[in-house]
Amino acid sequence: MSEAAAAKRAVRKAARGKAVRGKTAVTFAARLDLEHVWRRYGEAYALQDVTLEVPASTVLCLLGPSGCGKTTLLRIAAGVERPSSGRVLVDAEEVAGPNRFVSPEKRGVGLMFQDFALFPHLSILDNVAFGLRSLTKSQGRAEALHALERVGLAQYAKEYPHILSGGEQQRVALARAIAPRPGVILMDEPFSGLDSQLREAMREDTLAIVREARATCIVVTHDAEEAMRMGDRVALMQKGRIVQTGTAPELYRAPSTLFAARVFSDLNEMRSTVRGGRAETPLGTFPAKGLAEGTDAIVCVRQSGVRLLKPGKGTPGRILDTRFLGDVGLVEVAVQGLDDPVLARVREADVPEKGAEVGVAVDEGAILVFEAGNGDEGPSP
Ligand code: ATP
Repeated sequence: MSEAAAAKRAVRKAARGKAVRGKTAVTFAARLDLEHVWRRYGEAYALQDVTLEVPASTVLCLLGPSGCGKTTLLRIAAGVERPSSGRVLVDAEEVAGPNRFVSPEKRGVGLMFQDFALFPHLSILDNVAFGLRSLTKSQGRAEALHALERVGLAQYAKEYPHILSGGEQQRVALARAIAPRPGVILMDEPFSGLDSQLREAMREDTLAIVREARATCIVVTHDAEEAMRMGDRVALMQKGRIVQTGTAPELYRAPSTLFAARVFSDLNEMRSTVRGGRAETPLGTFPAKGLAEGTDAIVCVRQSGVRLLKPGKGTPGRILDTRFLGDVGLVEVAVQGLDDPVLARVREADVPEKGAEVGVAVDEGAILVFEAGNGDEGPSP
């Protein structure tokens, strides 16, 4: 086993504690639909015409920058907030809309908050049993214990939350969300309070538990890599709207706007004008599919798609600076005809010396061309 794999394993083992995780009971996964949902606060819209389909047993990651409406969407799906207009359906049954509003506890939708929101004065078992008030006390406690077994923390049932680490608190919150066996689980940035190594272990454990339960799941994140790693599907939000939905490779390879492209890749951006269906730049002339003659365009080159060659090949350039990033190096290259340096991510072993003359070429597959101005705003209302 490699050193990295061994370290990862050790972290995961430490995160789990000594207990063996029980088997997760299967829930009946539900399909979740939002149809033309708007949410208005005074003059401002937190959600604008949001339509989202989450098929049963799908893990959908809701990705977007701070303030774009992710939490509002989750709260509306859970029923702790009402839409200003539009409908929410669970298994094709309206749970929020013009004619109906089903309360959160009757929706079969579990919500896991960003800060875990454990009650400090309740035991860990009682925290998990909190959402099981429709059961008798002893039934509720039995179900709660079962949920704690599933996340590997049954040995802490009688303790109080303050003795737990951040990762363990996160797992208690997960146990509380799955204990009522909801068909849909909604998680608001569930890993944001954890350090990066623990976050990775938690992500895998959480996904395993959700998949074992076969629950439908929405996970909110503002981290594109996390969304791509976790989601069967990813929905990208911007300013209260869903701008693109698809699988991770679909969004990465074919972002619909410049905003989406910037979310999924580190880019170099160059301005150009479309002539004869192509956009010319100092790094080459590239197809500008779908853009009319004379359109102001922004040509994007993924940093990972820039190739550094021997001098005399490609476009002439000179290395301004290099930064060590671990497996790869980030190289700043001055290129004739461009005001800003080109950034290239190359294998650490291929990083040239500072000041070296090089040739610069780009992979055709690393080029994306957008109309200038399209993307920062997203689709217009
Ligand atoms: P973050 O990633 O920072 O948690 P978010 O994408 O979850 O952000 P929301 O919390 O849904 O965003 O907020 C969307 C917008 O709605 C923000 O501009 C926010 O200020 C506004 N908003 C949310 N709740 C309310 C409220 N109760 N009253 C007024 N405005 C609100």
